[in-house]
Amino acid sequence: MNNNNNDNKKKKIEWRLIEEKWRRKWDEQKIFNIDPDFSKKKYFITVAYPYPNSPQHIGHGRTYTLADVHARYMRMKGYNVLFPMGFHYTGTPILAMSRRIAAGDKELLETFQNTYHVAKDTIKSFVEPIKIASYFHNEIKLGMKEMGYSIDWRREFTTIDKLYSKFISWQFNTLRNKGLIVQGSHPVGWCPKDQNPVSQHDTIGDVEPDFNEYTLIKFKLDDGYIVPTATLRPETIYGVTNLWVNPKVEYVRIHIDNERWIVSKEAARKLEFLNHNVAIESSIYGREIVGKYVEDPVRKVSIPLYPASFVESNNGTGIVMSVPAHAPYDFQAIEDLKQNISLRNEFVELKVDVIPITIIGSEDYTPDVNNDHPISPAAKMIMKYKIKDQDDPQLEKATNELYSQEYYKGKMLQNTQKYVGMPVSLAKDRIKKEMILSGAADVMFELINKPVRCRCGTECVVKLLNDQWFLNYGDEKWKNLAHECLDKMDIIPEEIRQEFNYVIDWLRERACARKSGLGTKLPMDHDWIIESLSDSVIYMSYYILAKYVNNNSILDGDNKLMTNTANDVDVVAIVDNLNDSFFDYIFLGNGNASHIAVECKISLSLLEEIRNEFSYFYPLDARHSGRDLIQNHLSFFIFNHAAIFRREHWPKKIVVNGSVLMEGKKMSKSLANIIPLRTAIEEYSADAVRLAMLGSAELLQDADFSFDAIKGIRSTLDDIYNMAINYSTAKLKPGSSLVSSMTASEMKREIEDRWLVSRLQNYITDITVSMDKSRVRKALHDILYMFDQDLQWYKKRINAKNREDSAIVLTLSIFLKSRIRMLAPFAPFISEEIWQIIGDESHSIIFAGWPNVNEDKRDLVAEESEQLIINIISDLQNILKVTKISPVKIIIYTSAGWKQKIYQKILSFILLKNKTNFGDIMKQLIKDPETAKAKNDPKLIRNIVEDILSDPIEARNRRLKLTVFDEIFPLKDAKMLLSIESGNAQAEIILHSEDDTQKYDPKEKSKYSRPFKPAIYIE
Ligand SMILES: [Zn+2]
Repeated sequence: MNNNNNDNKKKKIEWRLIEEKWRRKWDEQKIFNIDPDFSKKKYFITVAYPYPNSPQHIGHGRTYTLADVHARYMRMKGYNVLFPMGFHYTGTPILAMSRRIAAGDKELLETFQNTYHVAKDTIKSFVEPIKIASYFHNEIKLGMKEMGYSIDWRREFTTIDKLYSKFISWQFNTLRNKGLIVQGSHPVGWCPKDQNPVSQHDTIGDVEPDFNEYTLIKFKLDDGYIVPTATLRPETIYGVTNLWVNPKVEYVRIHIDNERWIVSKEAARKLEFLNHNVAIESSIYGREIVGKYVEDPVRKVSIPLYPASFVESNNGTGIVMSVPAHAPYDFQAIEDLKQNISLRNEFVELKVDVIPITIIGSEDYTPDVNNDHPISPAAKMIMKYKIKDQDDPQLEKATNELYSQEYYKGKMLQNTQKYVGMPVSLAKDRIKKEMILSGAADVMFELINKPVRCRCGTECVVKLLNDQWFLNYGDEKWKNLAHECLDKMDIIPEEIRQEFNYVIDWLRERACARKSGLGTKLPMDHDWIIESLSDSVIYMSYYILAKYVNNNSILDGDNKLMTNTANDVDVVAIVDNLNDSFFDYIFLGNGNASHIAVECKISLSLLEEIRNEFSYFYPLDARHSGRDLIQNHLSFFIFNHAAIFRREHWPKKIVVNGSVLMEGKKMSKSLANIIPLRTAIEEYSADAVRLAMLGSAELLQDADFSFDAIKGIRSTLDDIYNMAINYSTAKLKPGSSLVSSMTASEMKREIEDRWLVSRLQNYITDITVSMDKSRVRKALHDILYMFDQDLQWYKKRINAKNREDSAIVLTLSIFLKSRIRMLAPFAPFISEEIWQIIGDESHSIIFAGWPNVNEDKRDLVAEESEQLIINIISDLQNILKVTKISPVKIIIYTSAGWKQKIYQKILSFILLKNKTNFGDIMKQLIKDPETAKAKNDPKLIRNIVEDILSDPIEARNRRLKLTVFDEIFPLKDAKMLLSIESGNAQAEIILHSEDDTQKYDPKEKSKYSRPFKPAIYIE
């Protein structure tokens, strides 16, 4: 290792050659083709299959890379790991894209040409939707191979494959038999142009349309017209003082069902989608009704309409009710209106004289009964948050705080008729129901995250859809099963579990079919096609079947004539002949195998083989996905598995990760910062791209992909590679003893050798824990940087001693081999390459396995020794910096034996009794004659206590175990290094124990020494 010629020569890594070589070798050896092996524990990992309407970019890569690292790690731990991949063709996005191409959409054409680099002729073919899918399918697959994903490609499929459609039909029949698919009228997100329900996959920016059910309370004008207002707090009807209307908005008078209403134009349209019969009669400006009065439908009191510019025509009905005692916004708006003389002057005789009516009390608010108009809860919030006007951003906080206070702790007051004393959470629903029954109110659904745009560009609405097919995620029994499944699962990171609980509780009926798009027809109604978030929830089990289709054991009907492989492959089934009983047997073990074999014209042995393979690989051990899919895909995955599969086949783990930023910014087409994965690999190498995705953040955080980081990573990988080359050269250097001729016992292993190997055991322990918890950033950081720090120190030590012995080779061999094996799941290409140099030339590093901790190699004395040397050098350099002495003699005093006894006693008192009180410690010390001396030197005791408390916990534990530790020995061992590090390699190092009677101590420094903190004197 001291061969400097080698140390300075850096060999450039031929990334492309290395990557090609290992891809070829993995292919040739078929090491990712995984079949059942009943002698081995299995581990089944999947990640959401991609949608092939664009190439994968850096943003997609994170989830797949995490899954691959997980798969490779488990393989090295000895599991038979299956990691398969399919392609999701279902739905409208590919269709929509194809139409945009046909229409000559400029933006899309430019994206294809300039960002995705698709050839012009190929783009022309994209008017056929399937051409888009197959082009990007291929592109994504190539990218996954180039990234080194350890996928079993024999199990690839698309969701429009014939057998897949049969499988999805079986899923839906099974759910229907269990009563979980219902037909009825339910609200859905809707594209008015496509006349189709929309969910996350159908919208621009992948937003799930989220809507709320509002209560529409009907206030009546003198002329018989109804002015409805939408609210989420119907119980506050008792506190309404006025309505707000925007004078500048053009409203419409409508004939709706059998009534006449005034609402905004937008509201009239929304009501039509909610199945109301709406006819517009005439328009009317808001200002025309400002100042008029309406009758409240519950208390039958007269209420004025006030002008408000903050009322938006697109929210609710465009007119809102005002409850100033309980809504801080309303309270502030009335105050503002009182001040706004010019606005009031626009309307003749507009008096603003309403007084807030408090109708809810709570623990935090009890009204003053002696005061006719006590200060209201909203007014209190306004004061608490020091709100100035209605534009104050703090209003939002005030509103939320009051809302949850009243919802959870509030009770209705005496001015609320029969609801007096009722908790608000209960009164809210009762009042709503009664008002609807009496005709005083109606309901209205409204998007709360609008605008949501369909991929066709149209703004989505909520539609009340009749006779539509729904998955009834609102079913209580189904919810309970989903909770039971979730409770048994590992959710990583655990903190995200609450989000799943929330979604499971919150999900309700969900439209599961569309009128257009690719996919499987609904088996009970062939006019409908099953949508993409419903046919992608149990397909993990389909990977078992796909293998048999791809190897022609199950023939797709279309192929049966052209394939003449009966001689080499056992052709024993045809897709067309398979029915639901086939799937019932494979996935549920239901039915009689021999009968089913006859019924489905499949050989009994094949049927049993597939069933056995399913039983071997299921349940799924880990599902990887992005965090954005918790609210739909991942929760549906839980629901459907819980409904369809037996308990022993329910999934065991979900791993969720955050997204990827590009140089700190969100990736978007408008920022032109979307980089296709394959482009990045070409430029920076697959390994560097993998590490850059994983190294910047723990799971849930957004990772930041930066070009500086990726360059830094590549140079670190360069160093690791070169170190391996140098090591292998040193190993073979003529004259040095060869590893093969050495045995550990004949070798003189020095402190630093023992230290490095002991540190390695700590790293293996820590990194294994991190990997098991999917804390990949931490694991990677240890492998790349902490290992390096230790290597640098080790080199310093051996160089200072001028060592050139065989123990170095053995030590480094152990250290580097373990490091490379731990790096292998992250950076598979370079790890294989290095393994060929320093490890086993004939086998992939995967078979080398994950390193195990060797407890015998833990060496507390060596760890303490090196730490002591590191600390002394740092102390020494600090003193030299302050005093600016150029040292000739450096005298180091280790502490007296009695101080060490005191130290041990205090340490065990703190660690074992968990006490740090100085008085208690002193008492303990004085009690024991061996340490009674402590009472003469309270300052020393204080210092020792402080030393211990400021040491890391691992150091404290180590010292507790090390009852005897001679500090002189390691210092003697490091004399040369101490001189070098003092800046004068000629400086003389003199070591004394404080106990030495003959010591040289002109300035009486030795008395300042403490255990593990020797004193230093410099001349
Ligand atoms: Zn649309």
